[in-house]
Amino acid sequence: MKKKEIYLDNAATTPVDSAVLKKMQPYFNEKYGNASSVHSAGDLARNGMEKARQQIATFLNCLSEEIYFTSGATESDNWIIQGIIEKANDNDFKKPHIIISVLEHKAILEPVLILEKKGLVEVTLLKVSNDGLIDTEEVLKEIKKNTVLISIMYANSEIGTIQPIKQIGQLIKEVNVKRENKIVFHTDAVQAINYLNCNVEYLNVDALSLSGHKIYGPKGIGALYLKKGIEIGSLLKGGGHERGLRSGTENIPGIVGLGEAINLVIKKQKDNIKIKTLRNKLITGIIKDIPNVQLNGSLEYRLPNNIHFSFIGIEGEGLLIELSEKNIYVSTGSACASHSLKSSHVLSAIGLSDEESHSSVRFTLGRQTNSNDIDYVLKVLVKAVNRLRKISGK
Ligand code: PLP
Repeated sequence: MKKKEIYLDNAATTPVDSAVLKKMQPYFNEKYGNASSVHSAGDLARNGMEKARQQIATFLNCLSEEIYFTSGATESDNWIIQGIIEKANDNDFKKPHIIISVLEHKAILEPVLILEKKGLVEVTLLKVSNDGLIDTEEVLKEIKKNTVLISIMYANSEIGTIQPIKQIGQLIKEVNVKRENKIVFHTDAVQAINYLNCNVEYLNVDALSLSGHKIYGPKGIGALYLKKGIEIGSLLKGGGHERGLRSGTENIPGIVGLGEAINLVIKKQKDNIKIKTLRNKLITGIIKDIPNVQLNGSLEYRLPNNIHFSFIGIEGEGLLIELSEKNIYVSTGSACASHSLKSSHVLSAIGLSDEESHSSVRFTLGRQTNSNDIDYVLKVLVKAVNRLRKISGK
């Protein structure tokens, strides 16, 4: 019999919930129509899509016409950056200014830095505290006459820290009252959807990115919320789907799955209490049983499923492999940059040395995690860290 797998990498992706899969299935071969077709098969597909759009709008507390389906959060993030800059250029803005934080996901960082390199935008990278938190007042200080976009992630994918999006949004709102060129405030809420209040009115955001596969939905589907009235250029040009702003035949099974996944997020809020209890049990156990470890990022302002430790003296990659051999799946802090063997930009931003960064491991719990899993992980982890430290002589 196959040994049980303990999957503690839910920030990377989540398994598709069986209820989600069930809702998606008919849309592959029974309700297979193209949502743009005028006949009944098209109606069925379109109805499924519009129901999902409404489910997402209900969750975010916005209008369904403010939801645009994309291929995932990478596209949503790229789109908001490039689309807002395209509009700013149309409006004869000489050099638009963008503010983002150093913690952003590469899906924000990369397009922004490429535009900067080409000399098309001015960029401010907001620093964070050693706890991985942004100071609201710092955002305000960096706003300039030519600022067109501020994008700050709601919760970090590596260290799980939660930013004060509501407060930042409130400040931007106040600034906007006195400005002719209004600043668009976007948040990448990919990691936040499962756990935090994502009501866009409450958050004071104009745009928000989300992704299906982080919320027990399918891969390759996401959405961008964009407040009505905000002008944006389109990233994908073609047949004019999604009210002319995102061309491409809609991925109906994915869209239906995303809608149901969001629906389940609402229904399964109670699971988050259990996840946090288990998370705290693992943190306490690690601190108690393993010397010379350091928890990275604020514990207070942190997603309830995230643990990120540096195990000083060992390589995180080595630990990951040892755990994987015991069917425990985690991720290393430097995983995003592992091709270049560079430390993760997030860990560098919170002041970790290269050694601390390379000795780090992220554990992200999920709905499927139970108390026995945590006991087993702790037992294996203590042994593995001791063994690796012995080998490295540290
Ligand atoms: N933003 C954040 C915070 C993420 O964690 C991820 C996925 O790792 C993305 C964006 C990209 O999402 P997707 O995989 O849907 O393109």
